[in-house]
Amino acid sequence: MKIVAVLYPGGEIAKRTPAILGSAENALGLTNFLKDKGHEFIVLTDKEEELDKHISTTDILITTPFWPAYVTKERISKASNLKLILTAGVGSDHIDLAAAASSKITVAEITGSNVVSVAEQVVMHILALVRNYIPAYKQVIEGRWDIAEIASNAHDLEDKVVGIIGMGRIGQRVCERLKAFDVKMLYHDQIPLRTAEEFVLGVRYTPRDQIVEQADVITINTPLTPETDGMFNRDLLFKMKKGAYLVNTARGKIVDTHALVESLEEGHLAGYAGDVWYPQPATGDHPWRHMPNHAMVPHYSGTTLEAQNRYANGIKDCLMRFLENRPLEQQYLIVDKGGVVSPSYSYAFKK
Ligand code: NAD
Repeated sequence: MKIVAVLYPGGEIAKRTPAILGSAENALGLTNFLKDKGHEFIVLTDKEEELDKHISTTDILITTPFWPAYVTKERISKASNLKLILTAGVGSDHIDLAAAASSKITVAEITGSNVVSVAEQVVMHILALVRNYIPAYKQVIEGRWDIAEIASNAHDLEDKVVGIIGMGRIGQRVCERLKAFDVKMLYHDQIPLRTAEEFVLGVRYTPRDQIVEQADVITINTPLTPETDGMFNRDLLFKMKKGAYLVNTARGKIVDTHALVESLEEGHLAGYAGDVWYPQPATGDHPWRHMPNHAMVPHYSGTTLEAQNRYANGIKDCLMRFLENRPLEQQYLIVDKGGVVSPSYSYAFKK
């Protein structure tokens, strides 16, 4: 079989550090494993021309959300041998799922592999914004010491209203971690939790628009689907409480790029943080690099060394099963047998 992986260029540091498994240099630890089994394994960093050169002869394509190869409808139409697309990580929105379904291509991701990594990052982003960490850190670097300037925008998280949009694996882990901060947590999800689960997590189901009006902090934890694409548009951003914070580690496209900049420039939102952008990698002049009061980082929350190990093992498991004609783990499947089967995505595709 011809197996192609499109992974981020890790450079010298990745060559010296085998634990950076998600890089092209270390290729998810698959090189010897696949070559020993007699398969052709090609690793690319170029997700445009080079991918296009190989797409028509590829049987299995491995991609990652951190360096997303956009597997568009057009690419899928040229991929006559393609049977399986694997996402090393969580979130397969860079693949046209409807097109994959109609071409009977299976799409799977490594569900759960990095959800703790992201939940920790969400808590970090919330604290960075609410406690005004970035301006305080900048003062230190700039040789300054102005307590009033920092304190004028620094708050306790305690007693604040936190809204969680999307209460899946990451959303729930965020709640477990935030419980210790004594906040009031409201959530929205297309599939509400059971009452007992709400009780254990200390959260209350609330319609999305009410959360938006009440929350001091909102964290977005839904997949990017046709429903959530652009969900935080100008209207919703300006419906948020004045002075609220927004954290997005889900996907950049869920938030309207220019409306967000406007809401920060006008001082409607007090801050925005996250690690997800559109497109990725973010262009040098992406407006979110220079908007006021942000705490943005490159897309890395779900690719800690521990997470890389987990998703590399998951990819190996999927490959072994597929190559031995055994079914993939059910919870990994996003598209299978001609349909979008993951409950997190399928609602949006049924409409
Ligand atoms: P999950 O499938 O466990 O949970 C997603 C939840 O969102 C589900 O409960 C689903 O019902 C809900 N949902 C879907 N559409 C919705 C809508 N329109 N309105 C309300 N709720 C909706 O997934 P997860 O593991 O929690 O991951 C969530 C997303 O986070 C991923 O799809 C991915 O985009 C992103 N992610 C980012 C990183 C990172 O490194 N930044 C890493 C992992 C995942």
